[in-house]
Amino acid sequence: MSDVPITVAHGDGIGPEIMDAVLFMLREGGARLAPETIQIGQACYEAGHPAGIAPESWESLRRTRVFLKSPITTPQGGGFKSLNVTIRKTLALFANVRPNVAYAPFVETKHPDMDVTIVRENEEDLYAGIEHQQTPQVVQCLKLITRPGTERICRYAFEYARANGRKRVTCMSKDNIMKYTDGLFHGVFDEIAADYPDIEADHKIIDIGTALLADQPERFDVIVTTNLYGDILSDVAAQIAGSVGMNGSSNIGEACAMFEAIHGSAPDIAGQGIANPSGLLYGALMMLQHIGQGDVAKTLHGAWLKTLEDGIHTGDIASEGHTKEKVGTRGFAEAVVARLGQEPSTLRVPAYGKSFPVPQPKPTPEVKKDLVGVDVFIDWKPGAPDDLGGQLQKLQGEALELVMITNRGVKVWPDGLPETFCTDHWRCRFQTPDGKPTRNGEIIALLQRIEDGGLDFIKTEHLYEFDGKRGYSLGQGQRAK
Ligand code: NAD
Repeated sequence: MSDVPITVAHGDGIGPEIMDAVLFMLREGGARLAPETIQIGQACYEAGHPAGIAPESWESLRRTRVFLKSPITTPQGGGFKSLNVTIRKTLALFANVRPNVAYAPFVETKHPDMDVTIVRENEEDLYAGIEHQQTPQVVQCLKLITRPGTERICRYAFEYARANGRKRVTCMSKDNIMKYTDGLFHGVFDEIAADYPDIEADHKIIDIGTALLADQPERFDVIVTTNLYGDILSDVAAQIAGSVGMNGSSNIGEACAMFEAIHGSAPDIAGQGIANPSGLLYGALMMLQHIGQGDVAKTLHGAWLKTLEDGIHTGDIASEGHTKEKVGTRGFAEAVVARLGQEPSTLRVPAYGKSFPVPQPKPTPEVKKDLVGVDVFIDWKPGAPDDLGGQLQKLQGEALELVMITNRGVKVWPDGLPETFCTDHWRCRFQTPDGKPTRNGEIIALLQRIEDGGLDFIKTEHLYEFDGKRGYSLGQGQRAK
C-alpha cells in the first residue's frame, strides 16, 4: 500500500513541539503517510491573511483531503477571522467528533469510568449565522435544521459507534419545546436508528441530558446532537474528563477532514518541551482510522495507554501516587515508541474497525405542499393589541382572515390578558377561512393593503401543510383548527 498524502500544519505556541512528537510516533508506529506541510496561524495573520491561512494552502488541503493540524494562537482584536470556523465552513466539515476518556486509575479524574464521544453537527442550527434586527426592540437568529444534514450526522454517529465497538447512541434535543426543528432532528434520529439494530438508541432532553453528563458521564457512550448543544456538551465533557492535554477531535466532511487536539497553543508553556502530545496524538489516531489505517492506530493507541499505565507522564497529568517518571514532550513520545506492540492491562483500546464512507442522505420524498396562510410580522409601538387587531381586521380581505396576534409567541389577540408584556414586534397570523389552499398572490395583495393602511410589516413566514400535515407551530394559546 502506498503512502497516503496528508497536509500537516505545525501551528503556534506548543504546536511545533507536539506535532514533531506526533509525527515521530506515527512514523515509528508504521503509519503509511506522505505529509506535506503548510503554514497557518500567527505568521499568516501577520502576513495579511485575515483567516490565518495563505490562499495557496487550500490547494494542498484539496489535494490530500486530510489535515492534521496543531493549535494556533488566535490574534486579539478586530479584523481577524477564526481559522477553525473558516476551514469548517469552506470545506463543509459537517461532523465534529470528540472522544472524552478518563484514564483512571493512572491519571486523576473525578469520573473514572467516563468514556463518551460527542458527535456534534457542525454546519446548521443557530450557527448558520442568519441574524437580523427587525425592530428597535427585537433581534432574531434563524435556527435551521435540515433533513439531509440531520440524516448525515445521525448516520455518521451510528457508523462511528459500529466501527469503534460502541454499544449505544443517545440523541439529545429540546423537542418538547421546539417541535419542528428539534422535533425533526429527533424524528430523523429514530428513523436512522432503525437501520442499526445492533446499536442501542435512546433520547434525552438536552437540559437533563447535560446535567446527567456532568454528574454521571459513565451513563453515556456516543451522543449525537445539534450544533449549539454539541458545542456546550463537548466543553462540559472535556472539562470533566480531566486534563485538557489528552483530548483529540476530528472534523469530517465529504471533501476533506481535519484532525487536531482540542486544546489551544498554550503560550504559557511554549518552547519548554514539556507539553503533552497526547491530544494531538489522539487526533492523529482518528485520522489513521479515517484513511483506512486503523490497524496502525490500534497499535499506537495500545502503546500510548501502556505508557500511561506505566506511570510515564507529562507534567500536566503527573501526580503523586500515579506518576513514576515525569517526562517532557519528546520523552513521552519515545516512551510510547518503546512500547509499540505492548497492550495496556487495564485501559481499553478502541476497536478501530474499518473506515467508513461519509454517509449520504437519501433523496427527500416528494410531498404535496399547500399554502394555507401567512404570519405577517409588524413593527408597531407597544400598545393595546385590540387596536392593532381592529386595524388589521379592516385590511384582511376575503381570502385570508386574521386569526391571531402574538407577541414573543404569546397570544395577545383575540382575548389576550392585560398582564402580558408586549414589545414592538407583533406576529399577525392570517389563514384561509375554510382551511383550503391559497396562492402567493393573495399574500401580496394582503401585504399591499397593510402597507397602504400605514402599518410597517417587517417580515413574513408562510404557513404550509405538507401532505395535509401542519408545517408550523401554533401560537401559545391558539387552538388547532
Ligand atoms: P490552551 O488550551 O492553550 O491552554 C489552557 C491551559 O492548558 C494552559 O495552562 C496550558 O498550559 C494548558 N495546556 C494546554 N494544552 C496542553 C498540553 N498539550 N500539555 C500541557 N498543558 C497544556 O487555552 P488558552 O490559554 O485559552 O488559549 C491559548 C491560545 O490558543 C489562544 O490564542 C486561543 O485562541 C488558542 N486556541 C486555539 C485552538 C485551536 O487552534 N484549535 C483551540 C483553543 C484555543
